[in-house]
Amino acid sequence: MQHLSFEIQDIEQLSPSMAQQLESLASMEGEFLVQVFSHSTVQNTLLQISNVIHQHIPNANIIGCSTNGEISRGKLLEKTTVISISQFETSEVASHLVSLNGTDELKTGEEFGVYVSERYPHAKGMIILANAIAVDCNDFMIGVQNGAGNIPIFGGGAGDYFAKEYTLVFNNTEFSSSGVAIAILSGDDLEIAVHSLQGWIPFGPRMEVTKADDNVIYEIDHKPAKQLYQHYIGKIEDEIFTDILSFPLMIERGDKSFARAPVYSEAEDSLAFLADVEQGDLVRFGYGDINVIFDEVNQSVEQLSNFSPDGLYLFSCGCRRIYLGEDIGTELQPFEALAPTAGFFTYGEYANLSSETNVLNTAFVVVAIKETLLDKESRYEKAEKAVKSEHGSKAMTRLMHFISQVTYELEEANAKLKDIAKLDGLTGIMNRGAFEEYFELEMRRCKERECDMAVVLMDIDHFKQVNDNFGHIIGDNMLKKIAHIINHRIRCNDIFARYGGEEFVLVLPETSLTEALDITEHLRKAVELRSGERSSKHVPNITASFGISIASHNQYIGQNVIKTADEALYAAKHAGRNRVEWR
Ligand code: GH3
Ligand code: MG
Ligand code: MG
Repeated sequence: MQHLSFEIQDIEQLSPSMAQQLESLASMEGEFLVQVFSHSTVQNTLLQISNVIHQHIPNANIIGCSTNGEISRGKLLEKTTVISISQFETSEVASHLVSLNGTDELKTGEEFGVYVSERYPHAKGMIILANAIAVDCNDFMIGVQNGAGNIPIFGGGAGDYFAKEYTLVFNNTEFSSSGVAIAILSGDDLEIAVHSLQGWIPFGPRMEVTKADDNVIYEIDHKPAKQLYQHYIGKIEDEIFTDILSFPLMIERGDKSFARAPVYSEAEDSLAFLADVEQGDLVRFGYGDINVIFDEVNQSVEQLSNFSPDGLYLFSCGCRRIYLGEDIGTELQPFEALAPTAGFFTYGEYANLSSETNVLNTAFVVVAIKETLLDKESRYEKAEKAVKSEHGSKAMTRLMHFISQVTYELEEANAKLKDIAKLDGLTGIMNRGAFEEYFELEMRRCKERECDMAVVLMDIDHFKQVNDNFGHIIGDNMLKKIAHIINHRIRCNDIFARYGGEEFVLVLPETSLTEALDITEHLRKAVELRSGERSSKHVPNITASFGISIASHNQYIGQNVIKTADEALYAAKHAGRNRVEWR
């Protein structure tokens, strides 16, 4: 396999450049994939380019798209058209244009996937160039995967130099502004390795996407998404994409996180994204750490130098170009040392590496490709390491570490505060508010498990007299003591809470009436015996009355069960106190 790429500024240059470049190929045999990455969104210009290429290579399969910047020979190029030629010796190349205009992307993808698996049984990979701002190509790719199985898919969303208005993809002489151009590469000698580099690190508070639809986030933590952004990172001045792309959202799914940079703001201060974002996603802010970015580049280059590719296709997010500025060369150049590179800056990159998502964002997808049939000598030297630029990066890394640490400590403190808010200040057991919450949960659990549960209300007898005779402080201490006595005699799954004043509630899950009567009688005796321990004239002897009610799993009676327990408690008081009654 041979691979070369060159750029032209205008169409007149194309024919002489093609002629000159093709001279460097050993022969014109085999199959050709030609990729065109152009700054132009003028269909006629791209059509002319396609025609000139076909004059020089009649059997070329040409796919191409408009871009947010072009890549050739390890460099970012501006306002050019890059022609990338891959000549395969034994592998087969096929290309297609699929319109997604008004279609169900998932279904169209599935049909295309089935077609690929039947027509190209030896397919090793698919390049997809899509009009990402017009159609949902994530659904299309999920469909292709469903239909074709696990063929690697890679590529990117066509650009328009960040205007976000109109992009083009094409296959030979067919064009689309709402479709996908696809190249299918097949062959037993073909090997493809796909890497996805990210480098964004999550920081700041963990938040939840509380309202989202169709890749638009309306609310995060119940606040309008754009307002929440401004709350944390300050006023967004002009273009969302360039202004806040240094802080994409990091979506946490399982143990992976994916960066998503908002592209524009829509109605109600919502934020629109090019890749999937879903209601319920947990998110944090992310920041691009130059050191991490270059570490990933170095790792990838090292692994790929063992792979020894013939050519590399690079699909990098448009936002990396803006974020990295002059350092973008440091990210691209090391790959050129491995093999000739060509690619473009995208609206979203594609790599079906994980089951979580196909469309990446803010990432850099590197596709290494080779045919293994020849014992070839590598023409390329071992790659130089990406050199870390100064870029104020050390100070930035430390600042971000500081922010992460402060956030972590605040989250810990908040979690503790939440726990404290659930406890009764005097006795240290659960308070009424927390009880209501847990009680609801427990009721549901009992219903699911189809078992009964017992609810016991306990009220201290003649407690007013304790206060009157011994004072409030002794009264308080007695409350603490009684809570302690009960708390140490219940099972860990039981719920025990202060229901109010000198009244307590106890929930015994998976407990029958007989068992509940047994347990409660045991508790009654414990209060009677232990409350007056070390009794003196300062510590009164105290008893309590108990009312039990059983919540049966086949009747969801909620608060009624407490009311019934209260009736039983009233009966216990009426029958002389210091006893257990049930209803
Ligand atoms: P009964 O046997 O009918 O339950 O008589 P009782 O005196 O216990 O009932 P009553 O409802 O008349 O009085 C409850 C008392 O509990 C009144 C109130 O001052 C006292 N109490 C409620 N909460 C606290 C508290 O947090 N600390 C103290 N020391 N007393 C409390
Ligand atoms: Mg009372
Ligand atoms: Mg009482």
